[in-house]
Amino acid sequence: MHETNATGEPALHPDTVAIIAGRPPHAPDASMNVPVHLTSTYVAGGELEYGRYGNPTWTAFEDTLGALEGGRCIAFASGMAAMSAVLDLVEPGGTIVAPRHSYTGTIALLAELEAKGRARAVLVDITDTDAVAAECEGAAMVWFESPTNPALEVADIAAIAAAAHEHGAIVAVDNTFATPLLQRPLEHGADLVVHSATKYISGHSDVLMGAVVTGSDELAAAVVQKRSLNGAIPAPLETFLALRGLRTLPVRLERAQATAQELVRRLTGHPALEEVRYPGLGAIVSIVVRGGAEPADQLVQRTRLWVHATSLGGVESTFERRRRWPLEQPTIPEGLVRLSVGLEHVDDLHRDLVGALDSLG
Ligand SMILES: *Cc1c(COP(=O)(O)O)cnc(C)c1O
Repeated sequence: MHETNATGEPALHPDTVAIIAGRPPHAPDASMNVPVHLTSTYVAGGELEYGRYGNPTWTAFEDTLGALEGGRCIAFASGMAAMSAVLDLVEPGGTIVAPRHSYTGTIALLAELEAKGRARAVLVDITDTDAVAAECEGAAMVWFESPTNPALEVADIAAIAAAAHEHGAIVAVDNTFATPLLQRPLEHGADLVVHSATKYISGHSDVLMGAVVTGSDELAAAVVQKRSLNGAIPAPLETFLALRGLRTLPVRLERAQATAQELVRRLTGHPALEEVRYPGLGAIVSIVVRGGAEPADQLVQRTRLWVHATSLGGVESTFERRRRWPLEQPTIPEGLVRLSVGLEHVDDLHRDLVGALDSLG
C-alpha cells in the first residue's frame, strides 16, 4: 500500500477501505448501501443496456474488492466461473503451468482442457521456484495458488512472476486462501488474481461467487467479454450478500487467524497427529492424522462444534478429510484433514477437537 494517493491524501488502511468502498456518495437521503438491483434490462442509451453486461450491485462489490486487491475487479457466478474465464485467455494449444497440489476443481478443469486438446497442462511443485521458472519457457500462462489447497505450500510469487514475464507468459494467482488482506499478488507482479468469493470474502457459507482482479485494462476488457459471452454472471442478491460479507472480512480474518495460530500451538505434538501444517498466516490449518484414512474418518464424525463439510472461510469451523474426494491428488496424505477455523471461541474449538483426537486411541 502506498503512503499517500495521487492527490497527496494519506492512503487508507484496508480495514477502512473494506467499509467505505463501493458506497453511494454521502448525500441527503442517499441509501447507505447500494441496493439489490433486480432487473434484467435497462432503458436504452446508457452504458449498462442489459443485465448480462452490467449491474449496479456488481459494481459496488467490484469497486470494493478491486480497491482491496489494487486493480479492476470483475465479479463471476462462482470461483470456477472466474477461473474458466481466465484459463480461456490462453490461445488454443497453449501451455498452462500450474501447481500439482492445486484445488481439485482446477486440476479437473485443466485435465478436461487437456483431454479436449484445448490446452496443455504442466503440473509443478510450486515451492521449487527454479523448477517452476524452468517450465515458464514456452508457457502461455503460469497459474498458481499460494498457499495451496490443502497442502498449504507457499510460492515465491515475485520470483515466479518475473520468470514467467521473461518468457511472455501471463501470471494468474488464485488468492482465495490468503485474501487481499494477507497477500496482494498484483503488487508482486501477477497479471490476474482469481477468487472463490464463496469462501472468506462472503464468509457466511451462504453464497457461491467468484471474482477476477487485474491491473491491466486490456486483460480486464478480455475478462469482461468472457463473462458477457459465457454468461457466468453473479446474481444481484448473491452479490449484495458477498459485499455485506466483505465489509467484515478484516475483523473476521483477524479473529480466525488468531484462533488458528493458537490451535496450531496447542495441537502441535498431539500423539494422534503425524503433522500440523500451517504457513504462519491465515485461518486454514491442515493436520495429518496418524494411521491414515480410517482414524481421520472417525475424527470428523466425533466432534460437536467442528462440522464435517467441504468448503472453507465461513464463520463456522468446518473440517474434512480431503482424500475422500476421488479427484484429490494421490500425493496428499490419506490422513490429511483440512481445518477451516471459524469464529467460535478458541477454548471450545480446542476442547472439541482434542476430545475427538484423544478418543482415537
Ligand atoms: C473453492 C475454491 C475454488 C472454487 O470456487 P467455487 O466458488 O467453489 O467455484 C477455487 N480455488 C480455491 C482455492 C478454492 O478453495
